[in-house]
Amino acid sequence: MTALPKVAVVGAGIEGAGAAFYLTTKHGIVPSLFDPDPYSGASQVAAGMLAPVAEAVYGEERLLEMMLEAAREWTRLDDALRAAGLESGYRGGGSLLVASGANDVAEIERTYAYYQRLGLAVRRLRAAEARELEPALSPSSGPALYTEIDNQVDNRVAHRSLLAGALKAGATLENRRVAEVSRRGSTWVLIDDQGGEHRADKVVIAAGVRSGEIEGLPSYMKKALRPIRGQVLRLRSAPGAGPSLVVRSLWDGRLVYVVPRTSGEVVIGASAEEVGFDATRKARSTYELLRDTFKVLPGLGEADLEEVNVGFRPGTADNFPILGEAEPGLYLDTGHFRHGILLASITGRWIAEAVAHDKVPEGMGQFAPQRLEARS
Ligand SMILES: Cc1cc2nc3c(=O)[nH]c(=O)nc-3n(C[C@H](O)[C@H](O)[C@H](O)COP(=O)(O)OP(=O)(O)OC[C@H]3O[C@@H](n4cnc5c(N)ncnc54)[C@H](O)[C@@H]3O)c2cc1C
Repeated sequence: MTALPKVAVVGAGIEGAGAAFYLTTKHGIVPSLFDPDPYSGASQVAAGMLAPVAEAVYGEERLLEMMLEAAREWTRLDDALRAAGLESGYRGGGSLLVASGANDVAEIERTYAYYQRLGLAVRRLRAAEARELEPALSPSSGPALYTEIDNQVDNRVAHRSLLAGALKAGATLENRRVAEVSRRGSTWVLIDDQGGEHRADKVVIAAGVRSGEIEGLPSYMKKALRPIRGQVLRLRSAPGAGPSLVVRSLWDGRLVYVVPRTSGEVVIGASAEEVGFDATRKARSTYELLRDTFKVLPGLGEADLEEVNVGFRPGTADNFPILGEAEPGLYLDTGHFRHGILLASITGRWIAEAVAHDKVPEGMGQFAPQRLEARS
């Protein structure tokens, strides 16, 4: 029997935690995770939409198959987490895209036609039908699209459970920042911010938008990632008082999304700005998000405003994730941009398979890091 590789995972956000969960539970490999503060990144800020349909973007169809498989994988992950005695935070029920202004109906029709071309199962609803499905919608809201494919997960719960599941199965977590990785013979050496050295046969870099700051990665990683700032709000409504479905609303061309948890928490998002790592919480973003939300879900005006958070989506030049073996034994698992919660299921599975079996899982090759070499 061949010995299992010693694996280090750098970053314990939802991607690192997801990879560690699959490594331990599917392959019996217990990695060492390194992260100074696992709950400080985008994974705790995100809204948790699992939305391959809503996120299908013209020109990015390559990602669609992966996103659809990621959504299916989330139902399996939900089962796996429950089997391990952990909450997943997964919630079905589907999602609505509502035309909130008269000018938005034509856009909804165009979107519907696009989904038809992609073969996605989406239903067109008249305004009254949409309100029947989601009674919290404003009486003035217009027609809508509904899909059962797009759902949600409480990303905070899922992230904590994935990490807890990996640790329970034997993985370890060191609260250290990895400053550098380097290859010595057939071994990888990680140097932490206190000068400590750690050895591994294989290393997975899952440090989110900061991944490129680690020394010793291929040079194309230096400029591969950029932060796309996003501000979200967390409200709390009385149980049963808020919406029950994920609602995306278009009002005069502006999109706002509202993600209600069973706990009464309601997440509203999100701005998208290219302003570097500016973490200040802007009054304007808060105002715009609430204004656009109250247009479609006026009852939320009675909810408590609990949190205003800023996070940084790990953006890439082509908007696709960076996944795979960059050098022998060095795996990159980053660049998940605005889909990282959705993609955590499939990338966790793929990266774990690649590390455990030295193979490229079907579907992953097109996101290989080497494509960045050509660009740089
Ligand atoms: C406002 C907003 C809304 C979003 N909404 C959604 C959504 O609805 N659906 C969806 O699918 N996605 C969404 N996303 C995207 C998603 O949040 C990210 O793609 C995803 O969280 C990235 O996960 P990650 O683990 O790569 O990064 P992170 O969660 O940022 O984790 C990276 C971790 O690496 C650690 N780290 C960094 N450097 C080092 C180092 N040198 N050594 C060790 N550790 C290190 C950090 O401490 C951190 O814990 C949203 C993002 C934002 C900002």
